[in-house]
Amino acid sequence: MENNIAYQTMIVILKQGITAQEKEKVKSFLTERGFIVREIKGEQETVLGAVGMAHVDPREVEILPGVASVVPISKPYKLASRELKKEDTIVKVGNVSIGGNRVAIIAGPCACECRSQIMEIAASVREAGAVILRGGAFKPRTSPYSFQGLGEEGLRYLREAGDKYGMPVTTEVVSPRDVEMMKSYIDMFQIGARNMQNFELLKEVGKTGMPVLLKRGLSATIEEWLMAAEYLMANGTDQVVLCERGIRTFEKATRNTLDCSAIPVVQKLTHLPVIGDPSHATGIRDMVSPMALALVAAGASGIMVEVHNHPEKALSDGPQSLYPSQFEKLVRDIQALCPVVGKSLESAPRIIPASITDESAGETVHESNNVIAFQGERGAFSELAVRRTFDEDVKVLPCKSFRDTFEAVNKGKARYAVLPVENTLGGTIFDTLDLLGAYPGLTVVGEQQIRIIHNLIVNPGTKIEDIKKVYSHPQGLAQCQEFLNTELKNARQEPFFDTAGSVSYIKETGDMTAAAIAGAPAAAYNKMEILKSGIETNPRNYTRFYVLSREENAEAFKSQFTSDIASLLFSVSDESGALFRVLQILSDHGLNMKKLESRPIPGKPWEYSFFVEVEMKDEEEFRKTLKLLREKTVSLRVLGTFKGAH
Ligand code: PEP
Ligand code: MN
Repeated sequence: MENNIAYQTMIVILKQGITAQEKEKVKSFLTERGFIVREIKGEQETVLGAVGMAHVDPREVEILPGVASVVPISKPYKLASRELKKEDTIVKVGNVSIGGNRVAIIAGPCACECRSQIMEIAASVREAGAVILRGGAFKPRTSPYSFQGLGEEGLRYLREAGDKYGMPVTTEVVSPRDVEMMKSYIDMFQIGARNMQNFELLKEVGKTGMPVLLKRGLSATIEEWLMAAEYLMANGTDQVVLCERGIRTFEKATRNTLDCSAIPVVQKLTHLPVIGDPSHATGIRDMVSPMALALVAAGASGIMVEVHNHPEKALSDGPQSLYPSQFEKLVRDIQALCPVVGKSLESAPRIIPASITDESAGETVHESNNVIAFQGERGAFSELAVRRTFDEDVKVLPCKSFRDTFEAVNKGKARYAVLPVENTLGGTIFDTLDLLGAYPGLTVVGEQQIRIIHNLIVNPGTKIEDIKKVYSHPQGLAQCQEFLNTELKNARQEPFFDTAGSVSYIKETGDMTAAAIAGAPAAAYNKMEILKSGIETNPRNYTRFYVLSREENAEAFKSQFTSDIASLLFSVSDESGALFRVLQILSDHGLNMKKLESRPIPGKPWEYSFFVEVEMKDEEEFRKTLKLLREKTVSLRVLGTFKGAH
C-alpha cells in the first residue's frame, strides 16, 4: 500500500427516499474501495459510516444516487463517535438492554469461588433487583501468589447461576486464546482495566460481535479509552458498554479516584452507553453506595457492584464487597433516584411483545402486537412513560382522548396502553379510573412513574424578550406560575388541550412571539428550541401511569414480576358502616391501603363506588381475602394486580 494512503472516515447521509438498490450500490462502491461500512438507522435519517485505509474524493460519493451529503469525522475515534451516530446505542445483553433512559444493575462477587457461593449470591442480587450477574473466572491479580480464579470451571458455575436466576452473565477475559472457549458460557465479555490497551485481546473479542464491557484503564485518558472501544468496533462488534472504574491519582484515601465527570463527558463524545463501577473505584465497602448514587446522578446508564455473601471470607476484593442487605438498600435508593434524572431501573426483561397476529378482536390488526397506545401528541409526557416501560422498537399509537386510548386496546389496535392515574401536585386523574370501570375487559398490568420537567419551548431563534403568548395545557401553565409571573410577566397565557400539542401548534404557525410549555421530547420531536428547562414551580412533580391491556395479554407482561399491588373498584350498600366493614377486612388481612377514592356512579345520583389500591405480600392470600370482600360489597372488580413502581 502506498504511504500517502491515510485512514479516511466519513459519514454518508442518505436521502429519505433512497431505494434498496441505490443503497446497495453506495455500500459496494465504498467496500470495493476498502472501507468498512456500517449502516446506522436513526429516527430522523439513515447514514452509512465508512472507515478504512483508503481514499476517495468525497465528491465522488456525494454524486451517487440516493446520497444527500458526505461529512468527514473529525475525532480520532470514528465508529464510537457521536458525530457518526447521534442517537444513544442500546446494547442488548441477553434479554437486558443497557443505554438510553435505563439504569441497569450488574452485580455479583469479584470472583466465582465455588458453585454454592455464586448460586447463593446470584439468588440474592436477583431478588434485590440486579439484571446481569458478574463473577470473575480469570483474575488478573497484582500478585502471582493471589487466587487466580477457577477458570473454565468458574464459567460453568456462573452460567448455571445466571440461567437459574434469569440473568445474563458477564466475566473478564484476559487472554485472546480463551475467547473462543468463553463464547459459549457468557453473554458479555468484560475487558479489565489492566487490559484496556491489550490490542490483540481487543481485536479477538471485537471479532466475536458480542457485547463487551470495556473498563477504563488505570491511567487512561478518555480519548485512549474511546480508542480502545474503536478497536473493538473496527473488528466487528457494535455492542460496547464503557465502564468508569476509577483512575490512579496522587490520592491514597481510596483505592482509585472515581472520575464521575467522565460520565457526562463520555456521553457527549460517544453514542455508546457508559456505566460506573464504584467498587473498584473506591475499594472500601462504605464508600460504594454513595458513589453508586453519584454515578446514577451523573447520568450513568448503570452500575456494576461487587456483592458477597461473606465478604470477610472472600478470596478477592472482600473489603469492597457489599453485604447483600447493603446491596438491597442501594437498589432501592437508586430506584428512588431514577425519576429525578429521567431514568428508570431496568427490570429483566422489559417486555418484548411476542410477534403474534391478533385476530381475536374482530378486526385483524397484524401490527397490533407491538403497538403501545397513549393519550396525547408525539412527544407527550405519556409517550415518555411508554418509552420507560417498553423496548425502544415498539410502535406508539398517539390517541386524541382517553377513551380513544382505551378503545385502541379494546379493539386490538394496540396491545398495551399507558395512561396517567395520578399526579403528585394535581391529584387523581379520574378519566382513567372511570374508563377502567367502563371497560371490564381491560386490566391493569403494571405501573410507571416519571418526573414532570417543564420547558419553555420556542421556534428556533425566538428570544425570551420576544415572547407575547405562552401556550400549554392548563396544568402546565399552572405548574409554572412562578416562572411565568417573574420572567414572562407581560406574556398572555393561552390554555391548550395538550402540552405536546401546544408545541406542534406554535411550530405550525411559525409564530416567533409565541412559546409553549411541555416536556423535552416534545421539543425534540418537533425540532424546536428549549429556551429554559426545569421551569416548574415545584420540582416534586411526578406522574404515575397505569399500563393496561386486554385480559389475554396481561400475563405476558406480568409474568416477569412478582405483583405486590392490587387495584380494586367496588360499591357497597347504602347503610351505615358498609364501607367500614370492607376496610376492616383489608386491615385484618394485613393489606396496607395506599389509596382510597370515591366516585359517583353514573346514572345513580348520590351513590358511589370506591377505588382502592392495597399493598399485598402474597397474591395467593390476597385471592382468599377477595372471597370475604365479595360478601361485604354489592359489586367488586379487581382492576389489576401488578408490580408497584415505588
Ligand atoms: C473486576 O471487575 O473484577 C476487575 C478486576 O475490575 P478492574 O478491571 O476494573 O480492576
Ligand atoms: Mn474485583
